[in-house]
Amino acid sequence: MEQSLIILKPDAVQRGLVGPIISRLEQRGLKIAGMKLMRIDESLARRHYGVHEGKPFFASLVEYITSGPVITMVVSGKDVVSTVRTMVGATNPTQAVPGTIRGDFALEIGRNLIHASDSPENGKQEVSLFFSDKELVLGERSLDSWIYE
Ligand code: UDP
Ligand code: MG
Repeated sequence: MEQSLIILKPDAVQRGLVGPIISRLEQRGLKIAGMKLMRIDESLARRHYGVHEGKPFFASLVEYITSGPVITMVVSGKDVVSTVRTMVGATNPTQAVPGTIRGDFALEIGRNLIHASDSPENGKQEVSLFFSDKELVLGERSLDSWIYE
């Protein structure tokens, strides 16, 4: 089953958008398999965003993601990686269409509110960076048959 690591970034927490963003995921029917409030330290930030090391925005990205508490979540289920990415919208909020999280709530790329894994492989790898197996609840829900055929 696919897993997507979602981070509600420090701006989402400070702006009080945690509830509205989680509501969208819940309303869609997605299954939340893990969730915690935490601070990301510099070394975790550098590992999580390692693929961007050396890019011009890397230093400001690490500063941004470590600047305050975040909510980290795991969403699990069929096709969740692409489903969540579509809900999140384009990386640059100026290009994110209305109806997406970034298209409805954000204006600038350096304050784009939310991270979501971009492939099933990265999803599993990112989840393991932030969550131990014991912190995940992966069983079926009684309502799954009303959401998945
Ligand atoms: N970012 C930035 N400037 C850029 C590109 C990216 O500040 O020119 C930040 C932004 O917060 C983005 C994150 O780096 O969400 C990771 O970039 P990526 O291309 O992986 O975008 P995402 O997967 O988050 O849509
Ligand atoms: Mg990315």
